[in-house]
Amino acid sequence: MNPDRPALSHVTNADLHCHSTVSDGTLEPEAIAARAAANGVELWSLTDHDEVGGQHRARAAAHAHRMGYLAGCEISVTFADETVHIVGLGFDPDDAELREGLARTRGGREARARDMAAGLAQVGIHGAFEGALEYVSNPELISRTHFARFLVERGHCADTSEVFRRFLVRGKPGYVPHRWAGLGEAVRWITRAGGVAVIAHPARYTRFTPTTEYALFTEFAAHGGRGIEVVTGSHTVAESLKYADMALEFDFLASRGSDFHSPTESRTDLGTLPDLPGRLKPVWQALAERVQWPDRQA
Ligand code: AMP
Ligand code: MN
Ligand code: MN
Ligand code: MN
Repeated sequence: MNPDRPALSHVTNADLHCHSTVSDGTLEPEAIAARAAANGVELWSLTDHDEVGGQHRARAAAHAHRMGYLAGCEISVTFADETVHIVGLGFDPDDAELREGLARTRGGREARARDMAAGLAQVGIHGAFEGALEYVSNPELISRTHFARFLVERGHCADTSEVFRRFLVRGKPGYVPHRWAGLGEAVRWITRAGGVAVIAHPARYTRFTPTTEYALFTEFAAHGGRGIEVVTGSHTVAESLKYADMALEFDFLASRGSDFHSPTESRTDLGTLPDLPGRLKPVWQALAERVQWPDRQA
């Protein structure tokens, strides 16, 4: 082992899932890095939705705070008519095929947002497209989260989760079905760029039957996907234990990430998650060669 590099173990404080203003988070990449470091994170990845535009800033900020860095993104995928999120880790952020794929995945967001606003207008909420845009930093990345912030600010709901429940999920006035990337495409973009594909927050796909979940895991593996998030901000302890067992059953690498978006909206802060169960293989050990460490202090 290289003595300049910290050892990576299952108790490494790795936080490999969070969002900045480059997608639907409220903090700049530099502010997230500072917050992660203050919370004791040793290995960090910024995983903005469908976008790698923040990667170089994130890596520089990680190094300024003496943290290791893995390139990251979270790709929106449509599988069995549902949205599934695939986190990519440790890839080359300048890979042309990955960047083109992500650009295509982002491409439909503006038209979708206009349709969402039209749906909201039908229930008397006007100007939602322009209102949501006020919260957007990256014009290619208008998301449901930005609509949620606008609706809270206008007093329609007390918080963003109430907005989702009442307006932004299937069957509600602001919901617009959308076709994202294919599962195989997303896994291929990540792996061809040298990274590892990970199924994000597996317990959140509550519309899947056990059979569909099994199909997702099996097809993901067949495409070359290698990991699942076992410990993540939205998992209960029971859910983490369930997906720890599934990781062993499918021989998946295990990941850990807060999915932090905002100091006022996120329940789980950066770096404050339980450790990965010791019987699992941490994805960061498999990616040890892809971790970018800061230069030795002079
Ligand atoms: P989009 O990619 O535009 O469909 O937006 C998805 C984002 O909305 C997720 O990445 C979360 O940040 C957020 N989100 C989804 N469901 C909820 C929820 N129930 N409460 C709060 N935020 C949510
Ligand atoms: Mn999000
Ligand atoms: Mn997600
Ligand atoms: Mn996320």
